[in-house]
Amino acid sequence: MTDCIFCKMVAGEIKPDTVYEDEEVIAFRDINPQAPMHVLVVPKEHISTINDLDEAHAPLVGKLYLVARQVARQEGMAERGYRTVMNCNEEAGQSVFHIHLHVLAGRDMRWPPG
Ligand code: 5GP
Ligand code: ZN
Repeated sequence: MTDCIFCKMVAGEIKPDTVYEDEEVIAFRDINPQAPMHVLVVPKEHISTINDLDEAHAPLVGKLYLVARQVARQEGMAERGYRTVMNCNEEAGQSVFHIHLHVLAGRDMRWPPG
């Protein structure tokens, strides 16, 4: 996916502020943070939306949450609390069409979300 900004990060063409990386996943700070901690956990495989997931992706999706937990721990937010969000399609607020788990922490979170 040559026109995908997150694929460019996976390929090393754009260097984000990375907080975690392994063979399957990269996690980096959001360029427009919505909380004191705002990290995006991104699979290295290009998957456009949640609707494009299949059964074979189940371990990878689980991995995104394990990495979210790891990042929250290393940022000192695990006990305090954090919110994970994955938007699907434009009406829900998705703007980058390569799935990513938002991990937000460091302030009171409201419910319902806007
Ligand atoms: P979405 O709106 O798709 O749920 O989330 C996309 C997120 O990617 C947004 O929070 C946006 O700020 C972030 N984002 C977009 N472009 C870049 C970029 O070039 N670098 C980083 N670090 N984050 C980005
Ligand atoms: Zn991509």
